[in-house]
Amino acid sequence: MGTGSTERGRRILVTGGAGFLGSHLCDRLVDEGHEVICADNFFTGRERNVAHLLGHPRFTLMKHDVTSPLPPDLVVDQIYNLACPASPVHYQHDPVKTTRTSVLGALHVLELGRARGARVFQASTSEVYGDPQQHPQSEAYWGHVNPVGVRSCYDEGKRCAETLFADYHRQGLAQVRIARIFNTYGPRMHPRDGRVVSNFIVQALRGAPITVYGDGSQTRSFCYVDDLIEGFVRLMQAENFSGPVNLGNPGEFTVAQLAKLVIELTGSRSRIVHEPLPADDPTQRRPDIRLAAEKLQWQPTVPLREGLVRTIASFEQSLTADVD
Ligand code: NAD
Ligand code: UDP
Repeated sequence: MGTGSTERGRRILVTGGAGFLGSHLCDRLVDEGHEVICADNFFTGRERNVAHLLGHPRFTLMKHDVTSPLPPDLVVDQIYNLACPASPVHYQHDPVKTTRTSVLGALHVLELGRARGARVFQASTSEVYGDPQQHPQSEAYWGHVNPVGVRSCYDEGKRCAETLFADYHRQGLAQVRIARIFNTYGPRMHPRDGRVVSNFIVQALRGAPITVYGDGSQTRSFCYVDDLIEGFVRLMQAENFSGPVNLGNPGEFTVAQLAKLVIELTGSRSRIVHEPLPADDPTQRRPDIRLAAEKLQWQPTVPLREGLVRTIASFEQSLTADVD
């Protein structure tokens, strides 16, 4: 697949690159002059997310499932491992496959990183903290995770992936970077993704009922995608710091507040309906981002209201075209 770094930049593999976050990362890396190989099995990702990059001389799209080893002739300088369904609806669709994706996927990117001397970035998650008993969550917190619940395939898969990354690092086998990502939203979320921001926006734009699960008092902290991608790149470039590090927006909102804000910003006539709270749904979540501020000089810049306005605008455009 080529011969390592080009003069204009690095050769970078992005697994899960056709997904929501991955496609924004591919954009950013191509814009910076790097050569990007996007590997995806299109489970939740869509070719349309990277359609504008197809034909670009520094972009290659490769259909690949990370539960299989990556091609041994793939020459890369850096790897971002994002392949894994992120929405509870999708990761619970085939839980065994989700665990396989996290664990085997981690092993396969780490082995490629070892073979190529490439730095490997892991998209971990705030879900490693489970339903946290410490608030806000700092990286020192070990979490409160049900090992046998409906969310465990994702939470424990990601925790095991972190273990593999930490041990490859400790054993000197690969250079690693671990980001613990908190709820992130923005353009290109799948309209039927099932996550709260995309659900509420799609429902509001269609005048359909806004489905608040439980009484809506559970909290989340929502980060706009551009802020998150900036954090990814800073962490990958950081010297002598491998994480894990929290990346997220510390602004904390209840789900009920989010529903009201989406209704206000869309000018929708939708009403709020309550549906049962899913099992093991975390009651509160907010990142402590002091470590990211100190080590990466990173903090989010886009407030929720502004990020939602941008996201709503992009959904308004894409929903008319969205038939799949
Ligand atoms: P997404 O579902 O849009 O993207 C995941 C991508 O991975 C998709 O393109 C999908 O087709 C691909 N994929 C899934 N299984 C695969 C496999 N076995 N082989 C190859 N490709 C596979 O979700 P996203 O929000 O873009 O999340 C990207 C990463 O960030 C995931 O690893 C997720 O766990 C992590 N993350 C996201 C958030 C968030 O709020 N968006 C929060 C925490 C962690
Ligand atoms: N949620 C909701 N209505 C929806 C989708 C989600 O009330 O239509 C709630 C969900 O129960 C959770 C929060 O919103 O408390 C965030 O859910 P999401 O699936 O986006 O991400 P999570 O942080 O739970 O992985």
